Amino acid sequence: MGTAIRVEVWDADADAGRAAITAVMDEMRRIDELMSPYKPASELSRINREAGKQAVKISSEQFDLIVRSLELSKLTHGAFDITFSSVGYLYDYRKRQEPTDAQIAGALPGINYRHLILDRRAGTIRFARQGVRIDLGGIAKGHAVDRGIEILKKRGVKEAIVTAGGDSRVLGDRRGRPWQVGVRDPRDSKGMVAVIPLINAAISTSGDYERYFERNGRRVHHIINPKTGKSSTGVRSVTIIGPDATTTDGMSTSVFVMGVAEGMKLVDSMSGIDAIIIDDLGKMRFSKNLQQITPGDARKPVGASKP
Ligand code: ADP
Ligand code: MG
Repeated sequence: MGTAIRVEVWDADADAGRAAITAVMDEMRRIDELMSPYKPASELSRINREAGKQAVKISSEQFDLIVRSLELSKLTHGAFDITFSSVGYLYDYRKRQEPTDAQIAGALPGINYRHLILDRRAGTIRFARQGVRIDLGGIAKGHAVDRGIEILKKRGVKEAIVTAGGDSRVLGDRRGRPWQVGVRDPRDSKGMVAVIPLINAAISTSGDYERYFERNGRRVHHIINPKTGKSSTGVRSVTIIGPDATTTDGMSTSVFVMGVAEGMKLVDSMSGIDAIIIDDLGKMRFSKNLQQITPGDARKPVGASKP
């Protein structure tokens, strides 16, 4: 996945614990084979090659995650849009490559989630026009983390954490105390700006420091504003806390694009969702519910206490 995966399991039976971890790792690999935009053999790559010409039959897992993505697009008025990739594929952060304004203008009409035509009965996806591409990078890691937690639950594990890059979900607590998940300082890879105690909850951070390069004082990074086809500005990182990692992953990317005012308004309107936004001046902002517990009572766990 090009991402660090971490699984920690507490199990009285060490062999069972190790086998559970292996099963989670296998699941991560399976999902990457299905959804990677970089692997030509993945189902997602096949969609991008063929769906502009004809309806493509896909797995129900991929179909369902695309449906989730479309729901998020509607909720965020298009801030979250997996067709961002119609322009996004022109960036290569490792090679410090970005499209010219003319290239962006040419590819931008491909960005619009309404171009995706799903047929639930047939299990197919089709693009309404040529030049559309999709990429589930803003939500697939959260999905993989949730699948990992499901696998652990089925095996009877009661206490665990699964992390893929900036997305984590915890099962139960850690030996009677909340799990502690750090929020990175977006301008210091070793520094932390907060530690969040969690029980049966998920947390995701989207930042402009994950994949980026700088040019003429401009930071070119991997979260794309679908309206412009360029890196989203105004925010350095967004952390979302919620019930499951698919939700927190999708929401962290969404709120990053929406920005402080609109993003926080959406978060505060949703029950069970919280946010920490660090704006482009480094100022931290907390959603309503977190203001009540941070920083005064930082040890109070966030999240439900029932699995
Ligand atoms: P990461 O954990 O890799 O930082 P994020 O959750 O921050 O992931 O999401 C960033 C990824 O989301 C990008 O690498 C890209 O694949 C995808 N993405 C970028 N812009 C958008 C957007 N506007 N809508 C949906 N997905 C996006
Ligand atoms: Mg995300």
